[in-house]
Amino acid sequence: MRKLIAGNWKMNGLAADGLALARKLAECAAAEPLPADLLLCPPATLLMAVRDAVAGTPLALGGQDCHTRPHGAHTGDISAAMLRDAGCSHVILGHSERRTDHHETDALIRAKLKAAREAGLVAILCIGETAQQRDAGAALEVVARQLSGSLPEGMGAPSLVIAYEPVWAIGTGRTPTPADVAAVHTHIRAELKGKVAAPGDIRILYGGSVKPMNARALLHIANVDGALVGGASLNADDFWAIAQAVV
Ligand code: PEP
Repeated sequence: MRKLIAGNWKMNGLAADGLALARKLAECAAAEPLPADLLLCPPATLLMAVRDAVAGTPLALGGQDCHTRPHGAHTGDISAAMLRDAGCSHVILGHSERRTDHHETDALIRAKLKAAREAGLVAILCIGETAQQRDAGAALEVVARQLSGSLPEGMGAPSLVIAYEPVWAIGTGRTPTPADVAAVHTHIRAELKGKVAAPGDIRILYGGSVKPMNARALLHIANVDGALVGGASLNADDFWAIAQAVV
């Protein structure tokens, strides 16, 4: 399956640096064929400007969250329909930072997945265990519970992507061993059976301190179909190097 490399810029990027980053990646994408599908998820304030900067290239655009409702009295929120209107094809949902900062539950994330599907967006559902849960030997159980709790009925490829992001690996420079990544991804693939249509076609991304130095090793593990990249996606050379590591 063709891999997906997604860049989550989080709450980073003002017009000057965000657009410089998008333009540099657009130049790279115009100069040579992409070895993987590439997705940029800038902050909402830059979505339309990044859309224009990458227009005419295969770079895709995604949001970092959406509300459960298509419109209404929800100050400060953004709907899936608005993301679509701004040029997005994807939306990240259930990121651990949103689970922590905004107390998002599996039930809420499930409703957001439904909203994304109704708006025609591909949902990237993030799941992953905390350090405490891993130390307790509960990593597989946690990801299975998150999948059961947050996947609506009737989801399937291509409108669903799963991102396995161990919370303790995000932004820390620490990564699980290849054997641990393989074990969790294989478990996720098995858990998807019976919950979604065509489970074998669903991309399962790894996320958590993916850098140019470790990308090749991580991206060639069985059932790793791409990466969700945070910090390293803010540097065009690093993000491009990670994309090149799929081959
Ligand atoms: C992320 O935020 O999804 C992420 C994986 O961050 P980082 O690559 O910085 O660990």
